[in-house]
Parts: sequence; C-alpha cells; structure tokens
Amino acid sequence: MMRALILSAVAFSVIAVTAVRADLAITNVTLIDGKGGPAQAGMSVVVKGERIATLGAGVVLPRGIRRIDGTGKFLMPGLMDMHIHLIGAGQWRGLENAKGVPIDRDAALSYLHSYLYWGVTSVYDAGNVPELILDMRAKERAGKIIAPRIFATGHALSYPGSWMAGTFHGVGVPDWPETQKVLDAQIAIKPDLQKLVIERFGLGPNPLAPNLPVDLMAKMAAYLKERGVRTTIHASGEIFQRAALSAGIDTFAHPVASARISAEFVQQLAEAKIPIATTMAVFDEIIRLGENPNYLDDPLFTSVLSPGEIAARKAQGPARYSSIGWTSWFKTLMPYFRENVKKLYDAGAVLVLATDRSEGPMIHRELELLAEIGIPPAAIIRMGTLNGAIFLGREADMGTVEAGKLADLLLLDADPTQSVANMRRINTVIKGGRVIDRSKLRVAINEH
Ligand SMILES: [Zn+2]
Repeated sequence: MMRALILSAVAFSVIAVTAVRADLAITNVTLIDGKGGPAQAGMSVVVKGERIATLGAGVVLPRGIRRIDGTGKFLMPGLMDMHIHLIGAGQWRGLENAKGVPIDRDAALSYLHSYLYWGVTSVYDAGNVPELILDMRAKERAGKIIAPRIFATGHALSYPGSWMAGTFHGVGVPDWPETQKVLDAQIAIKPDLQKLVIERFGLGPNPLAPNLPVDLMAKMAAYLKERGVRTTIHASGEIFQRAALSAGIDTFAHPVASARISAEFVQQLAEAKIPIATTMAVFDEIIRLGENPNYLDDPLFTSVLSPGEIAARKAQGPARYSSIGWTSWFKTLMPYFRENVKKLYDAGAVLVLATDRSEGPMIHRELELLAEIGIPPAAIIRMGTLNGAIFLGREADMGTVEAGKLADLLLLDADPTQSVANMRRINTVIKGGRVIDRSKLRVAINEH
C-alpha cells in the first residue's frame, strides 16, 4: 500500500512537470522528408517516445494510439536556425559588451518560444553570455523548459581589438601558447560548435586594424579538433575563408558577404562539402530597419513580439543602423551577398538555413530571401532541415523524417514545396515526440 502510494506520487509529479508525451501517429499525410526528394502522399508516421518509430504508406497503427489526421496536410522535419543570438542579456541593444546587465531568463524563454511558435525546433546560438545560454541549454536538455533544442558556443573567440572581441559577448584571445587556456575553458563548457572570429572591428576595409592572425586561427582549429570540438568561423572575406578552409574549420557561420566570391573558391567550397550558414536576414534587417521598419507590423512579428518591443525597435533601429552608415553600406553589399549564395547553391555547396537574428519569425524572412534569388522550395527545405543537422554533426539523429530519428516535426496546412510562404501555414509543431501547444507559448498573440 505504502509502495503504491509512493509510486503514484512520483508518476503524478512527472506528469505535472513534463506534461504527457503520448505515442502518436500522423496519418494519411503528404511527407516531405527533408532529403530534398519529391513529396510522398498517403504516408503515416508513428512516433514512440521522442523518436520516429516507423513510417510508410501501409503502416499498421498500434491499437489505441493517439492519431493526428494528416489528410490534406504536409509533414516535414522541424526547421533549424543555425545562427542565432538569443536575447536575454541585453545583446540586441548595443555594440559594447554590457557590464552588469541582469540576465532576463523570462525574456529569453519568450524568445525561445517565438522559435517554436514559428516552427523552429532547433537553434544554434553563435555567441552569447555563457551564464544565460548554457543555463537555458541545460534546462532544455533536462526537460525543465519548453524550448527548441539549443546548441551553443557560449563565448565566440576573436582577437583583441577586432570584431566580437569585447562586443556581442565575444572574447579576445591572447597569443599562443596562452590561447590554450582560453580554449581549455571553452572545451570545459562543451560547446556544440566553438565559434572563432577572423574579422576587423566594424567589418570595415581597414587592413591595418587588428585581426586574428591566420596562423593562430589554424592552431586554435587544430587544438579544438584534436579534442573533438567542432568549429564554425565568422569570416566575411574570401581570403580568410580560404585560410579557414585549409585550417580544417568544420563550418562557416556566414557566406562570403563583403565582395563578389571567386568562381574558383565557390568550386572549392562545394567540393569540400563544408556547411555554410546563409544568414541573409541579418543584412536584410539592417537595411529594412534603417529605411522602413514597418515590416515589423506583419503578423509574422506581431504574433510574437509585444507592441512595446515593436515600438522600441522602430524607434531605435534607424539610430542603430542608419545613422552609423550600416544601412547604406549593407545595401551596397547585399547584391554581392545574394549573388554569392546563388553561386554556391548552383555549384552544389551545402547551404544551411540561418538568420543571425534573435527571433523565430526571421527564419521565414530567410526562406523568402533564398526563394527570391531563385532557389527552389524543396532545396530550401533541405537547407533548413537535413543540412542544419549536418552543420551540427547530428545528422544521424536529426534533420529528416526517418525511423529512429528524433521526432521534431512540422505539420503544415499548405504545401511547402510549392512555396516557402506555406511554411507559415503551421498546423502543429512537434518536438521530441511532444505536440507543442502553440496557444500556451509565451508569445504576444497569447497574452490577453
Ligand atoms: Zn552572429
């Protein structure tokens, strides 16, 4: 009797904390599996626990299993944004690393919810306050918060006086061999990919400004690789991307963005099959926010950002970007950026959906920008699913709808292979086999 009481108390508390994760089946759905092939009609997908158990056209469903009728609907893997910077420690507001800004976990949680709301089931944070992002990562992995899967670098590592050293929570590393101490400290926090930065402050063209020496980048990359840590590099110029490629860096956090890429390097990147995060949305937002921030009135944004936040962005955006010249400068660079991404796609490079922004809606802008340059929707879907998993080195576990993989799924009311805009027509978001109740997420549309 005593024993039974204790057992039921334990069971109750588990239910109270994590909600119920019942096995489920999505039936008679059109499946876009994430591998880039044609959609398959009349499919059923059975989820057991956090993984996909089986799928096919003639699957016999377990008796009594919870069913979601997929008739007339489209099932694809959950979207992955492989370059974000989560808000929650003041990082949207200024260039300097803010000292003493209190960490706002509630704000961070609502931004994480904005990703789930818009169909993003995994994010990679490419530089943040470690206390914030590592804590959220730990809580997500322990099932203590509802959030997309969080992958993170903690601090990005740069060189004193250069881009992201002392800005956006990056750290400037000392020269070798002292660099190793900083790397060891990073390795201890288990970065999913360690981000390195080789870029002059302000992204400007001054060749005399401090920058991470190429040989130091190579030493850092080798040191991390020997210890099993994957790496990503911020480098906007081709010279430094070439050095990163030969140094064995695993992924690129951006395409070449500061000038037209050479045909020879496009070919090298495609042959190397190195994942490259697309991040067109960051340039696009700097242009739009500086020129006409009324895009923020789109339901994409008003659904998840509070009226106060939208007003603040409209008020601060022009001052932040236009008045310092970034809006006009990025507008000058954008045609090359677009052209470079298209050339990489045409050559068969591994492009990875990523925004370099801080909220879920932006992924849909990135999708739109990729479609605008002429990439077909099915290929863009693969960039946002399987290629994201490849970026993380997690393709055995994630990124496609296949038996054995984590059940991170997006059920849509319209066909995303016809138009990427149909990825906004979200019916159901499933993460790790659990149906996310979008009406309970802490986003603006649910605040009454
Ligand atoms: Zn970034």
